[in-house]
Amino acid sequence: MSKLSCQEVLDQLWEYLDDEARAELSTRINEHLGGCRDCSVEVDSLRKTISLYRCEDSVPVPVQLNERLREALNRAYREGTHGQD
Ligand SMILES: [Zn+2]
Repeated sequence: MSKLSCQEVLDQLWEYLDDEARAELSTRINEHLGGCRDCSVEVDSLRKTISLYRCEDSVPVPVQLNERLREALNRAYREGTHGQD
């Protein structure tokens, strides 16, 4: 099993942060995060953003988020307390 690069980790973060992320992917990303401070910081801030997004009516989404991460945030938002519609 080859190691993930930072780009691969970032590409798959949206899936990793999704509740339905596959266990294997989580394990591999966790391994990478254990040795990569840059990605750990990124994941940490994304987690905080997502949890804020679940609790608040309007939280500005960082502009640097890519589309798939926005999608994950939107899904988190829909599944949160404001999911009625
Ligand atoms: Zn990394």
